[in-house]
Amino acid sequence: MVFATCLNCIDGRTQLPLINWIKNTYNIEYVDLITEPAMLELLANDIKNNHALISKVKLSLEKHKPKLIIVAGHYDCAACTKNNLDHKKDINRAVENIMQLFPGIPVCGLWVNEQWRVEEVVLPW
Ligand SMILES: [Zn+2]
Repeated sequence: MVFATCLNCIDGRTQLPLINWIKNTYNIEYVDLITEPAMLELLANDIKNNHALISKVKLSLEKHKPKLIIVAGHYDCAACTKNNLDHKKDINRAVENIMQLFPGIPVCGLWVNEQWRVEEVVLPW
């Protein structure tokens, strides 16, 4: 079984496009999905003390040994305090923060655009 761990927003418009794209592009069978409103903005800030979130990621990593971690954000995010352009820019910082917290596993950054299509912004390898 080949897993990936995806950290995404709660937005229901993004889940299936993301899961399908991840499975097809990275040869993944199962996507563990961890969601928070505006996950990308959350991850771009200091998350070292967000123990609830970190423990969810750790559980997925320890139990499913995923091939990669995916950080995702999307167009028209209801929970984000920024405009779309600035929200998309959070992706680099979010990927860096996750790489620091969980070293040794590839991390990529995806953006779901206004057509609900997935863009690969930060490549995992
Ligand atoms: Zn959102």
